[in-house]
Amino acid sequence: MNPRPRRLNVLRWLPDGWIQTAGPRAQKSLYLTFDDGPHPEHTPPLLDLLARHGAKATFFLIGEQIDRHSALAQRIVEEGHTLGNHSFTHPQFETLPLDAQFDEIERTDRALASVSGRPRHGFRPPRGVLPLPLMLRFIRQRRRIAYWSYDSLDYSRRPAPELVDIIKRHPVRAGDIVLMHDDSTISLEMLESLIPTWKAEGFSLLALPQEG
Ligand SMILES: [Zn+2]
Repeated sequence: MNPRPRRLNVLRWLPDGWIQTAGPRAQKSLYLTFDDGPHPEHTPPLLDLLARHGAKATFFLIGEQIDRHSALAQRIVEEGHTLGNHSFTHPQFETLPLDAQFDEIERTDRALASVSGRPRHGFRPPRGVLPLPLMLRFIRQRRRIAYWSYDSLDYSRRPAPELVDIIKRHPVRAGDIVLMHDDSTISLEMLESLIPTWKAEGFSLLALPQEG
């Protein structure tokens, strides 16, 4: 289990304007990102934890979850975090025609705009699967794919202490974008231990800058 998967090393060679795999490194910054919310049970305690530590993060939301839990999406923004687009229904993108993929993205753009007032947010494909035609259309539209540099493995069904150990054996670096999820308790359990560690090491936990 390696938090820096080899396929990310390949993506890192692509121009940064195409695929974002790291954030600004100033201030020894670290960018926590949470996919698959907002979740009515798991997102609020995570927001409470971030607030207790004065930490900011970025939430890649699912459009239909925004429609179901709009007040919670609003809370995320009001507490100083930034948002990203993680499709409307979290389908398997590689099974959809390109127009249906874009419909998923644009419906979510509209749902996000109703919360943040911004027309566009960085897009992170479900499960990180990036079909080539979608990537080419993004390049033509000068839209960037929001990837990550560090995988917390919080979806791997291992207990939190084991995952924390793996992360400590593969230390985060300034500018890392950390992939996490807020649709279970595991990220909360991990961060209760990791945030104090990272703060003691001098990291600032920041939200990713908004697109354009
Ligand atoms: Zn996802």
